[in-house]
Amino acid sequence: MAKLDLYHQKRDFKVTSEPRGKVVRGKAAKRKFVIQRHDATRLHYDFRLELDGVYKSWAVTKTPSLDPATKRLAVEVEDHPIDYGTFEGVIPAGEYGGGTVQLWDRGTWMPQGDNPQRELEKGQLKIVLDGERMQGKWALIRLKDDKPRFGRKVRHNWLLIKEKDDIARPGEPETLAGEVTSVKTGRTLEEIAANTRKRVWHSNRPAKAISQGAAKLKGAVGAKKKTRASSSSRRAPRRPASRRR
Ligand code: MN
Repeated sequence: MAKLDLYHQKRDFKVTSEPRGKVVRGKAAKRKFVIQRHDATRLHYDFRLELDGVYKSWAVTKTPSLDPATKRLAVEVEDHPIDYGTFEGVIPAGEYGGGTVQLWDRGTWMPQGDNPQRELEKGQLKIVLDGERMQGKWALIRLKDDKPRFGRKVRHNWLLIKEKDDIARPGEPETLAGEVTSVKTGRTLEEIAANTRKRVWHSNRPAKAISQGAAKLKGAVGAKKKTRASSSSRRAPRRPASRRR
């Protein structure tokens, strides 16, 4: 399977405003990282590290902790396109990952060793972050996989751990929990949701909806000309069931 296939399969780009994106060729001088706070079924932090043209991605279940003794569960998810790193907005309800996405941190990262691909495969990646909220040394350590259970996908669980350095705050696990605004726009999740709703309803709707409304009005007022029963036949085809989750 090609690198972003899973990402593309899970989304209907006719419905969501998330970027389609593609694998970026060539070597990045500085690797980017981003964290998107995502108010979906459960609030979580999507941690993404640029590597080989895509974002390697994990869903971290709680606010990352600056306390080296406080390990955070990070569930491995599909690679995301680099374009995703600037996305902030609302994924429509009912779509994959439906909910509000906020840019919670961004910056660059460096591997502590010299072969991050290899470390990732081995399940022990050590990095240095240079972000607005997260800095210094961190480690991602893969746990043993759960036994596969019928009807359940095997998840690869990792731990995100702050390593001891000047930035670490031993004994203060929730230092970053009070950071609730976007590093891009300063907005809270609620403000992002409210703004996006407004935009979706007022300007993001295709002109079709307006002309249909006008046709209805004409029919009601004019009553002479028959309005064509075109609205149902014009509706977009249903997308395959496999896309819906
Ligand atoms: Mn997410």
